[in-house]
Amino acid sequence: MSEPNKAPAPAAAGRAATKKELPEHFKAYKHVWVYVEVERGQVHPVSWELMGAGRTLANKLGVDLAAVVLGPEGEPLRAAVAESFCYGADLAYVVASDVLTDYRNESYTAAMTDLVNTYKPEILLLGATTLGRDLAGAVATTLLTGLTADCTELDVDADGSLAATRPTFGGSLLCTIYTLNYRPQMATCRPRVMSMPERVEKLVGKVIEHPLGIVEDDIVTKVLSFLPDRDSAKSNLAYADVVVAGGMGLGSPENFQLVRQLAQTLGAEYGCSRPLVQKGWVTSDRQIGQTGKTIRPKLYIAAGISGAIQHRVGVEGADLIVAINTDKNAPIFDFAHVGLVTDAIRLLPALTEAFAKRLSAHSSDKLAS
Ligand SMILES: Cc1cc2nc3c(=O)[nH]c(=O)nc-3n(C[C@H](O)[C@H](O)[C@H](O)COP(=O)(O)OP(=O)(O)OC[C@H]3O[C@@H](n4cnc5c(N)ncnc54)[C@H](O)[C@@H]3O)c2cc1C
Repeated sequence: MSEPNKAPAPAAAGRAATKKELPEHFKAYKHVWVYVEVERGQVHPVSWELMGAGRTLANKLGVDLAAVVLGPEGEPLRAAVAESFCYGADLAYVVASDVLTDYRNESYTAAMTDLVNTYKPEILLLGATTLGRDLAGAVATTLLTGLTADCTELDVDADGSLAATRPTFGGSLLCTIYTLNYRPQMATCRPRVMSMPERVEKLVGKVIEHPLGIVEDDIVTKVLSFLPDRDSAKSNLAYADVVVAGGMGLGSPENFQLVRQLAQTLGAEYGCSRPLVQKGWVTSDRQIGQTGKTIRPKLYIAAGISGAIQHRVGVEGADLIVAINTDKNAPIFDFAHVGLVTDAIRLLPALTEAFAKRLSAHSSDKLAS
């Protein structure tokens, strides 16, 4: 019997089938760039974390690692450039202008896109901060290139493309995204997702100064005054050495005070799982996890937290995870280093008391010696 007419076999799925030759005009794009976020004279530490990740990519590709520093002329800008070399940059592109004194999307996008169009990097990394997210989206849109946001891993594949991995489907899966036919390949990473590289004193590095192509009159947005957020300095969760957090297992906002008390005794920051924020028990700046903060403390104590994947991705960089949970099968015990199967509402006050005694004995010993 003859076979019925078959439709042609579908093309092979996956990247091999979709990859086209990189257009000729993009072949000149080389080197890895990291945007060094300077705001009000302060460099956001995520810039150095990205410099570490960028160094690995640049070494794999055999290209240079460059810092991009934008801002008003002055000591903070110069200091940021000098620090870039200490964190691994081979060179720095600098646009210094009073027009860049306050962050505004128009002026910063103009500076960054002009740099990219002039010096043609193949990879551009930015921190997924409020500023970085705003800038990255505008730059990618203006340059008509791809941007992978909130990456948890960055690598280069065998043919030199950036493999940018990030959670998808509510954090239950990880996907790796490629920008195959456009340049630069852009990615953002949240603070603390990449580890901080070692700072090595380095006094020299090549600096390329580039003029800003626009003047104040070209910019519609004007900054009339700056009102700091009263709460912004309150939580230092992402960079804390010790974090104590509570979850739904605590049962009530009153019991959450037990977490705060232990944190206070240890000189730690406190945090929580997402449902506590949704219930209004704790403010959103304290949420840890995929849609909250990523933390990398030396010690993380999680009380009454189940350890769902969306929470886990925010804490697995901790050096030591201590989990307190009544359910011995709770997922948190799959990745905690120390597991305590017990009632957190009873254990937390006991821990606070024990630590308070121990710490006060320690400080009296120190005073005596
Ligand atoms: C898109 C998306 C994004 C999300 N982002 C985040 C995020 O950023 N961060 C986050 O945390 N979650 C996030 N979630 C929610 C996440 O999936 C979980 O629902 C959440 O982490 C569960 O919080 P929990 O562990 O506090 O509560 P539960 O899952 O209710 O767990 C409570 C735990 O407490 C234990 N327990 C009960 N009583 C006690 C007791 N007396 N002592 C000790 N243990 C006790 C229980 O055994 C249980 O394991 C997200 C979900 C989605 C869909």
